[in-house]
Amino acid sequence: MANPSILILAGDGIGPEVMAEVKKIIGWYDAKRGITFDVSEDLVGGCAYDKHGTPLHDDTMAKAQDVDCVLLGAVGGPKYDSLDFSVKPERGLLRLRKEMDLYSNLRPAQCFDALADFSSLKKEVVAGLDIVIVRELTSGVYFGEPRGIFTEGNERVGINTQRYTESEIARVARSAFELARRRNNKVCSMEKANVMESGILWRQVVQEIHDKEYPDVELSHMYADAGAMQLCRWPKQFDVIVTDNLFGDLLSDAAAMLTGSLGMLPSASLGAPMANGRPKALYEPVHGSAPDIAGQGKANPIACILSFAMALRYSFDLGEEATRLEQAVEKVLADGVRTADLMGPEGGVPVSTSAMGDAIIAA
Ligand code: ATP
Ligand code: MG
Repeated sequence: MANPSILILAGDGIGPEVMAEVKKIIGWYDAKRGITFDVSEDLVGGCAYDKHGTPLHDDTMAKAQDVDCVLLGAVGGPKYDSLDFSVKPERGLLRLRKEMDLYSNLRPAQCFDALADFSSLKKEVVAGLDIVIVRELTSGVYFGEPRGIFTEGNERVGINTQRYTESEIARVARSAFELARRRNNKVCSMEKANVMESGILWRQVVQEIHDKEYPDVELSHMYADAGAMQLCRWPKQFDVIVTDNLFGDLLSDAAAMLTGSLGMLPSASLGAPMANGRPKALYEPVHGSAPDIAGQGKANPIACILSFAMALRYSFDLGEEATRLEQAVEKVLADGVRTADLMGPEGGVPVSTSAMGDAIIAA
């Protein structure tokens, strides 16, 4: 059988710096555990524009469609701010998401005990928190037609349309239920069925998919505004939350801040199952290219490393290895190893990106 394959697109800014630590870990799996990944690397974002005049070359796109998963660092930077919209670095990422049809965006909010003081909430509210928000990523109000700014009578009107088809709701619901079966068998679906037609359909379809295909999973429904409140009040009541594109955008950012630092947050974007039964997938840290600290060896590689852990779990069925990697991160943090972004007011000496990677490998 062929080795599992990964396309690495490290991108711009701190992307290559944090990805270097993932590459070390991939090397460690090969040398120490006999798990060999076929790794290829290519350009995305500003660096691709510099070389090819486009943020994502067609050949790179074709490679992405062909591998078991893509690992992405970050794209963009001030150098590219004045570029035309059609060739902006971010467009490379958008094209990947669109052409791979990655409709299900998984954003875990996991609070490592050693960092519980970092949250804006009380320690008991966040310590041990481990939830995942599944956000629909390719439809809804960001894409629905009609959209635009029109003239009506003697004034302008800005229009966006929230539109969901049954199949769009069904596929992201399935992805959430599948995730729940790998975790704690519990899903909460959020919409606003009290005021939105798309919300009424959302609730119906999620319930139907549940009753027909996933009756073993515990399902609840909540209005998204109440959900936002509950997420701040007592987030540990949730396990998997599934919601639409707009509410997911807001809820996942709010949930992210329950855990503290941007340098800690991984994500996965999943699409339809491939021939091997695993979903099309792209894994990336939530943070951007962080131009303010790029090239200084200061970046926290943990978000990127935890994104790789998600790849182990969801693309390669190596859930136990993923858990061990997460435990290594937990141990290193408990030992007090900190990159600069994780330094509290008490101070101390931060470690470099590469020292953090080495510590995690040693653990
Ligand atoms: P984008 O538009 O690409 O999302 P952004 O402007 O929202 O980017 P980031 O590039 O993520 O934001 O950076 C926001 C802040 O967080 C910056 O001050 C940056 O230095 C810091 N930051 C982001 N990622 C990391 C990291 N991995 N380690 C340390 N600091 C980080
Ligand atoms: Mg941003």
